[in-house]
Amino acid sequence: MREYLKFYIDGQWVDPTTPKTADVINPATEEVSGRISLASVADVEKAVAAAHRAFAPWSQTTREQRLELLQAIQAEYAKREKEIGEAITEEMGAPASLGGGFHIGLGAGHIATAIEVLKTFKFEERRGNTLLTKDPIGVCALITPWNWPMNQIAVKVLPALATGNTMVLKPPQLAPYSAQIFAEVLDKAGVPKGVFNMLQGSGAVVGAALSAHPRVDLVSITGSEAVGVEIAKTAAPTVKRVCQELGGKSAFIVLDDANFVANVAGATGGMMINSGQTCSAGSRLLVPKKRMAEAIAAAKEAAAAVSVGDPKGNVAMGPVVSKNQYNEVQRYIEIGIQEGAELVAGGPGRPDGLSKGYFCKPTVFANVRNDMTIAREEIFGPVLVIIGYDDIDHAVEIANDSDFGLAGYVNGADAAQCLAVARRLRTGWVSINGGFDFMAPFGGIKRSGNGREWGEHGFHEYVETKSLIEPAPAA
Ligand code: NAP
Ligand code: MG
Repeated sequence: MREYLKFYIDGQWVDPTTPKTADVINPATEEVSGRISLASVADVEKAVAAAHRAFAPWSQTTREQRLELLQAIQAEYAKREKEIGEAITEEMGAPASLGGGFHIGLGAGHIATAIEVLKTFKFEERRGNTLLTKDPIGVCALITPWNWPMNQIAVKVLPALATGNTMVLKPPQLAPYSAQIFAEVLDKAGVPKGVFNMLQGSGAVVGAALSAHPRVDLVSITGSEAVGVEIAKTAAPTVKRVCQELGGKSAFIVLDDANFVANVAGATGGMMINSGQTCSAGSRLLVPKKRMAEAIAAAKEAAAAVSVGDPKGNVAMGPVVSKNQYNEVQRYIEIGIQEGAELVAGGPGRPDGLSKGYFCKPTVFANVRNDMTIAREEIFGPVLVIIGYDDIDHAVEIANDSDFGLAGYVNGADAAQCLAVARRLRTGWVSINGGFDFMAPFGGIKRSGNGREWGEHGFHEYVETKSLIEPAPAA
């Protein structure tokens, strides 16, 4: 049993102002795996005050001083990677190979990227008689989700630190363990007191108090559309910057060529990674109508090949994160059946042989219409919908006919054609034939949000541009 009952405020591990705890459930066993404290508004006040005090000195530090801290964080993180991976498996059910693999790798990748970017980031630039400086914004509230917990914490905390901000992190209640270890990493690395603070607790209490707080200058939220909207409203009266990284219903376009079957299989397997709980998942698979039968055969086979079970074992897919999430996924599978989509793999209930835990079946619907609920709403589970297109124009039209605009995927044999299709997608990020880059800005348009994280663009989220204007030279 894990017990994480203290918060990290002003460089110390401190008790809650008013003791209150919550159990954390292991989604693979449905059993309590540990306890955390839940912060109150009084704890938010303490953390924000500490961050506010720390801002003046931290914002004046040099690039070299910050680099030294980031490198110390990198070294400490490396020592704790195994533990962090195990914590992620326990809190949100990622299989060991994923929790100890891509999950911790994303955290390490964002740390390494922030170090690289900080080495050359242009904090000032002269334009005529004006000196433009990129100043830290101030106290940042960082609110993160449970689905890729270390990724989302690292992608906010490192750029915020590197650009001279101070912060309060509010990790998800469902996945609090990896965040606690991350805070220990920062403490060990020697982050000056008050620069980084962490409160465990609920979004409704801690997240809302941070969003409303007059001394918080920026809120960065990664989460659902509903919560993103709520935070923007709560933040509005204090005119702070709100960076939103929200949901998606991204299209995966497979072109009509020689690689078709392998690409459909890859897209199907990809959808099931992390039990489909990925904001940028390619959850709408677009295939030529005339090849729907082939697509169904390939997707069926790929879904059947996804092993599901105890995430501590050697499986491809663990449970979804919680009972609520399980019920939501089941509800959408029922809706898909009622809407008349063709169920070709998976379906309702748990996979055979699993009687406990929030396990879902890798599920594929085919011959889906883009106006069906299962094609419009983010399911956030291992459910892929396959939609047929007539030609490339039609594929692009379907892809862009979505309230969301986070990601997109284009796979095909002709690189130039893939790029041409990718250019037409109305999203913030498109991966072509599996392309991946830590330096590429990540974020959405439309209801997927307004933020751009990762790489140098992630730094721009945390700076304000200031003009220092000197008299123009005499003509
Ligand atoms: P969520 O329910 O929106 O929660 C996200 C965070 O917001 C949690 O820490 C939550 O606290 C907090 N929160 C809840 N209500 C709040 C309020 N009124 N004020 C302030 N904070 C509040 O999202 P989730 O279920 O954790 O994650 C899944 C969602 O995140 C999906 O929609 C997914 O697409 C999206 N996502 C987007 C990206 C991206 O980069 N665009 C990446 C990953 C995930 P609790 O701990 O109390 O829930
Ligand atoms: Mg939620």
